[in-house]
Amino acid sequence: MAYFKNEAQKANFVQLEEETLGLWEREKTFEYCVDRREAREKFVFVEGPPTANGRPHPGHILTRVVKDVVLRYKTMRGFYVERKAGWDTHGLPVEIEVEKELGTNSKREIEQYGIEKFNQRCKASVFRYEKEWVNATKRVGFWIDMDSPYITSDNEYIESVWWSLKEIWKKGLLYRGHKVVPYCPRCETTLSSHEVAQGYKEVDDLSIYVKFRLKQEKEQEPVFMLAWTTTPWTLFGNIALAVHPEHVYAKVKVKVNEKLEGGGGGKEKEEIFILAEARLDALEGEYKITERLRGKELEDKEYERLFDVPVVGESHKIITADFVTLEEGTGVVHIAPAFGEDDYGVCREKGLGFSQPVNSKGQFTGDVPSLEGVFVKDADKRIIEMLKQRGLLYKESTYLHPYPFCWRCGSPLLYYARESWFIGMKSLRDNLIANNEKINWYPTHLKYGRFGNFLESIEDWALSRERFWGTPLNIWICTGCGKEFCVGSIEELRDRAKNFVSSGLDLHRPYIDDVVLRCEECGGEMRRVKDVIDCWYDSGAAPFAQWHYPFENEEFKQNFPASFITEAIDQTRGWFYSLLAISTAIFDAAPYLNVLSLGHILDEKGVKMSKSKGNVVDITSIFNNEGADALRWYFFTTGPPWDDIRFSEPAIAERQKKFLNTLWNSYFFFVTYAGIDEFNPKEKEIPVEKRSAMDRWIMSRLNTLKKEVIGSLERFEIHLGARKIEDFVINDLSNWYIRRSRRRFWVTEENFDKDCAYLTLYEVLVSVCKLLAPFVPFITEHIYQNIVRVFPDEELESVHHCDYPSPDESLVEAKLEDSMDLVSKLVEAGRRARSDAGIKIRQPLKEVVVVCEKEKREEVGSLAGILKDELNVREVKFTDEGLKSEFVSAENYKQEEVDKETTLFLNISLDKRLIEEGLVRDLVRRIQGMRKDLDLEYTAKIRILYEGDEEVKEAIKTFSDYICAETLAVAIGEGKPSSSVSVKGEQIYEKNWRIGNKEVWLRVEAV
Ligand SMILES: [Zn+2]
Ligand SMILES: [Zn+2]
Repeated sequence: MAYFKNEAQKANFVQLEEETLGLWEREKTFEYCVDRREAREKFVFVEGPPTANGRPHPGHILTRVVKDVVLRYKTMRGFYVERKAGWDTHGLPVEIEVEKELGTNSKREIEQYGIEKFNQRCKASVFRYEKEWVNATKRVGFWIDMDSPYITSDNEYIESVWWSLKEIWKKGLLYRGHKVVPYCPRCETTLSSHEVAQGYKEVDDLSIYVKFRLKQEKEQEPVFMLAWTTTPWTLFGNIALAVHPEHVYAKVKVKVNEKLEGGGGGKEKEEIFILAEARLDALEGEYKITERLRGKELEDKEYERLFDVPVVGESHKIITADFVTLEEGTGVVHIAPAFGEDDYGVCREKGLGFSQPVNSKGQFTGDVPSLEGVFVKDADKRIIEMLKQRGLLYKESTYLHPYPFCWRCGSPLLYYARESWFIGMKSLRDNLIANNEKINWYPTHLKYGRFGNFLESIEDWALSRERFWGTPLNIWICTGCGKEFCVGSIEELRDRAKNFVSSGLDLHRPYIDDVVLRCEECGGEMRRVKDVIDCWYDSGAAPFAQWHYPFENEEFKQNFPASFITEAIDQTRGWFYSLLAISTAIFDAAPYLNVLSLGHILDEKGVKMSKSKGNVVDITSIFNNEGADALRWYFFTTGPPWDDIRFSEPAIAERQKKFLNTLWNSYFFFVTYAGIDEFNPKEKEIPVEKRSAMDRWIMSRLNTLKKEVIGSLERFEIHLGARKIEDFVINDLSNWYIRRSRRRFWVTEENFDKDCAYLTLYEVLVSVCKLLAPFVPFITEHIYQNIVRVFPDEELESVHHCDYPSPDESLVEAKLEDSMDLVSKLVEAGRRARSDAGIKIRQPLKEVVVVCEKEKREEVGSLAGILKDELNVREVKFTDEGLKSEFVSAENYKQEEVDKETTLFLNISLDKRLIEEGLVRDLVRRIQGMRKDLDLEYTAKIRILYEGDEEVKEAIKTFSDYICAETLAVAIGEGKPSSSVSVKGEQIYEKNWRIGNKEVWLRVEAV
């Protein structure tokens, strides 16, 4: 009885994967895989929640399979690895999608539409593509519990977030501030610094040199301070000019062309400018320095305002500031406190006034009548025209620089003085840095590089958003006495509310806005601050909020900190940061111990895939064409997980052909012959040390491989682990072990050597299957089901329930591996020698002579048979240095260097018998080709007839036994039958061949 199911020679991977998914579903393989380790040590994973309001694209799938390979591996290594899915549901991205549907363009329009209806639409849209996400997640084989996910908009989740904010509030870290913050004029809300960091683009902005005239006596020649800016619109908020107190400034006479100043002519005249001496190359044409002075000598000089804009407080004088640099511009900095953080700070310090001529949509107010209602970034050209007309522009050019854009809607951000709620992260800087110390980063350079640098210059977290669909900020303020109160739970809300309705409780806006609290201070009414919070705070709260901690707290304590998280590199300033920030503020602890930062998916041209660029590949077509294993293998082997991947479907097909097909062929070879021989691995037991050198060698390689793969995976070098297995399967197993051992399986009678070969190949296949299971979970499950689970009494139901193979050091024979390595080098050298001499590999040769040290000779000696076969020579001789010169001078020896100590000499002289033998090998190859053309089974027997030149017939007679054995022929005879079929029939195939200069006719007939 055959134990193993027969397989098709060519695998149908897609079908195989779909069947495997069915098996997992029926047998609850995933659930059991997790549960059976419940008593074991935990390996804690936190899912970075995706949003399901867009379709999953290749980048999401990459993240999902990297998570999967690590979690499957850790499970097989014996850990208890729970996997709770999560969905990120709040925030601007969701609102923007709904706004597109509604066609609204401002907050006022949303309010007119109704916040209640608007938020209901947001809530509904969040799960629009949930089905696609669930399907893609299952199809790619990412095992995660999607039946009970955490959802950031659930009341319970919000309650945990509120609890955490209250903890922060109690520590005095949650405060309201007036600050210049990055602001999106379209979304009409502030952005946090980590959001800004994600949206920089290189842009060409106008840059202008503006002349500010110093106040002087009327008759004096005008003197201008020359300042430089890339944001002309901010000139309307100008309050001061800043110079560095210690730097040297020069007063220069400059030739200027009047034409520049907007009136005909083209006549040249001279003007006097003051700018930093180190920046004089900003001037064009000739100039003459008339005076040098230190910055502080300019302090307090007054200048004439550019535009007539109302200002509250003192203004329009020169101040000194240390932040003025000489790297660009003129060393004279235009200061507008409404539009710059440094500007705001220095004006407050110097007691200067303030001017805000721009409204919350980024448009000029009535303070600038000529530009009222114009969006500031659209006004630059008109402002330049206005300056030209008044002779206040020295020159203009464009300037390429990074400028921040809204990461969600793409609008240019403005720096803007706004009221906002902040978490005081600056004061926690040292704690953040200390907690980062406890984290292992992959790749390692991020720890002190991109991430570490970000922490060094951390800003307070601008937490509030003046928006609608988000976790409501849980702060109420008394309308009477101004007292502030932070609500930390639903119970607290109920206790303090004057009008709490508990049925159908929804903590979102607008309902929560109507809840009025009693002021404990004055008995007055407290109203909620209308803001919602940054959705990055929601996802950053996931470690505890997914467990509804502290309201139900047991799970959380066991699951903190996480052992492992992974997301794409853009999360260094997104989720990786928000997790650390919240965990540091509340627990002063690192929230995760290992973080793997992934590269992006680019298209074939190297451009990042994104919905807006329209270059996103539809992943379902990959599932239907190549399958999930091929996609996964492509992701894992293309490069380190932290490198970007240029996505290419042909490359996926290529990886499949190269690797998965080779794996399949090895497996197919085994089940085919094991079926014929009714081999049962359970009936035989032969210790490895009793087996042949070839068997011991592949077992040694296998155990070395196990050790290497585990080492790589422990360092999250998924690519190295995968490539090592690939190299083993293709080169060691398929191209060497199986190819070299084929004949051992072909012999028909039972013998010890055949048993050794079967046992060895079986053990290797089972181990490779387990090693590969986390990477390619489908094909490995399929193979496992057929060759392992077929013995149900002793074996686990799924390959994914098995332990990861650990190396058996006693089977590692380093010397044997070295010797085999040398043999394969000798084979390569021998082939080079043949090709140099123009002798093909099927032509047998007399001998090969290897000159090497005595020690090596003994090692390689036992493997001489392999060398003989591979090089197709009758004899392998070894000799030492002393006799080398003899061969060097002999004409019939071709020499090849193998390594420093080893040289190979190939005897290329031919005799009649060798020539006949070469001819026969050519014939055998053609007969095998004819078998293939007839689509004969591997094991089908044939009959051969031949006719041809005398030399050919003679050779066939001499080697007829050999030909029969090689081609599974039961008979071989001379002469054409009288009624010959001249074409390829059903089971008969006749053909004339030409081999070298000889003619031969062959007929192959299935028996
Ligand atoms: Zn925006
Ligand atoms: Zn009060």
